[in-house]
Amino acid sequence: MEAETIKKAVKRYLKQTGQDNMSLKAAMFDMDGVLFDSMKYHAYSWHQTMKHFGMDLPEWEAYMHEGRTGAGTINIVSMRQRGHEATKEEIDEIYKYKSNLFNTCAEAEQMPGALELLTKVKESGVTPMVVTGSGQKSLLTRLNKNYPDTFREDLMVTAFDVKYGKPNPEPYLMGMEKYKHHAKEANTAVQDTALSPKNFIVVENAPLGVQAGVAAGVFTIAVNTGPIPDEALLDQGANLLFPSMKDLCDNWETLLSLLK
Ligand code: MG
Repeated sequence: MEAETIKKAVKRYLKQTGQDNMSLKAAMFDMDGVLFDSMKYHAYSWHQTMKHFGMDLPEWEAYMHEGRTGAGTINIVSMRQRGHEATKEEIDEIYKYKSNLFNTCAEAEQMPGALELLTKVKESGVTPMVVTGSGQKSLLTRLNKNYPDTFREDLMVTAFDVKYGKPNPEPYLMGMEKYKHHAKEANTAVQDTALSPKNFIVVENAPLGVQAGVAAGVFTIAVNTGPIPDEALLDQGANLLFPSMKDLCDNWETLLSLLK
């Protein structure tokens, strides 16, 4: 990507949010489709599960619902296909079926470029964080195995922390709060009263995730690692879009010089 394009995007963001400058402290990464190439397995599992329960959810559509809670996705499809929401029991049964099927899929690989990017992020003195709607068990174990010495448990937001989930800004606002708490504990130079969206970026692959990042007021970078059109991400207000994590990694130095 042209350095000029990145420069313009940052300028536009600052103008829109009425801020003078960025002061990047932490980068909030979504997990599925950003750190792990796992969305294809989620999409497959959703499609097969809904089929099993007599409903239709095409694989591509699963990408559009990414980030929503399981219940949220089930109810949207149920309303469309049956004209009513699913009962609590149905939701539990359907979501359990989906989770079991997902667990039979191969373990998702690292997203190409993610390890290199995280290494650069750490070397820049920027704290990497994970903000995910996922409630998979042993999430931290898997993250630590693939990305050693990168993520701290007290700087993670997962399905267990949030009430609403994406596209609500809640998960990213909570991530900012967690960082604030951590910075206070670590007694870093960060003044907690001064901590604001300008200290963060969001990296997201899903339209609903982009929506959440933008609603939290944070500079939101979309990486289009799936089959959806770029417009689906840009229409939600993504400040920048890269075709891959590798491409974002290649442009990190330019970005950092504008965000630090
Ligand atoms: Mg994602």
